[in-house]
Amino acid sequence: MEAIFEKSQLGKPLIIAGPCSVESPEQFMSTITPLVNQGIEIIRGGIWKPRTRPGSFEGLGSIALPWIQDSKKQLRFKFATEVASARHVEEALKHGVDIFWIGARSTVNPFTVQEIAESLRGTSIPVMIKNPVNADLSLWIGAVERIQKAGISDIAVIHRGFSNFRDVVHRNSPLWQIAVEFRTYFPDMMMINDPSHISGKRSLVPIIAQKALDLNFDGLMIESHYTPDLAWSDAEQQLTPEDLQLLLQNLKTRKVRF
Ligand code: PEP
Ligand code: MN
Repeated sequence: MEAIFEKSQLGKPLIIAGPCSVESPEQFMSTITPLVNQGIEIIRGGIWKPRTRPGSFEGLGSIALPWIQDSKKQLRFKFATEVASARHVEEALKHGVDIFWIGARSTVNPFTVQEIAESLRGTSIPVMIKNPVNADLSLWIGAVERIQKAGISDIAVIHRGFSNFRDVVHRNSPLWQIAVEFRTYFPDMMMINDPSHISGKRSLVPIIAQKALDLNFDGLMIESHYTPDLAWSDAEQQLTPEDLQLLLQNLKTRKVRF
């Protein structure tokens, strides 16, 4: 199978877009149809949602997986979702999920990453690894190494910023220098920026996305929902598919190499 996260094949940034969470077949189709029609080939959607505190929407779980499979009969796209346990991996593989990512709350825990890594052994599924919630470069590197040691080679990393105490400008501070330093350890690995979770608010998403391209990131993962204000998770930061298209059209090409 052709590698998805092959840097050399990329002439332009890789764009991944889709809802924070999959909420219903209607919400999923209404959101992704315009995205796929815009040319977006990789759709994201949360099935299992790790929430910091209990009581908010934690994802629909496996019941949503057959809907994704059905939608692939109508639209051409690859589907990416977060996995946080061996059970998630097993369920997602059974239902033809194309790409996995490890979330920021999992990357902090070597036991969790190791469990996921073991469950991936023998597969050739592409995996994206988000930075941990805390500003610990070694934890991020270690998570990548664990996935590599399980025999997975089609790997990208996602920079989604780092937790803050109290409200500051960003929901998660970008601390760009950590991403820059990460790159010195894995110069050939695709680095994708997640401006949605860094900014936490719609108005800041374009600025962060442009900054990432200026720093020569290889791609962007951006949350989009057809009615963002009604979203069951991360309502403030999701963009309509139309606004996402405008954002992408207005991005300037990369200027600086690092
Ligand atoms: C997400 O991608 O919706 C998500 C929960 O991200 P993170 O792990 O970066 O918080
Ligand atoms: Mn989200």
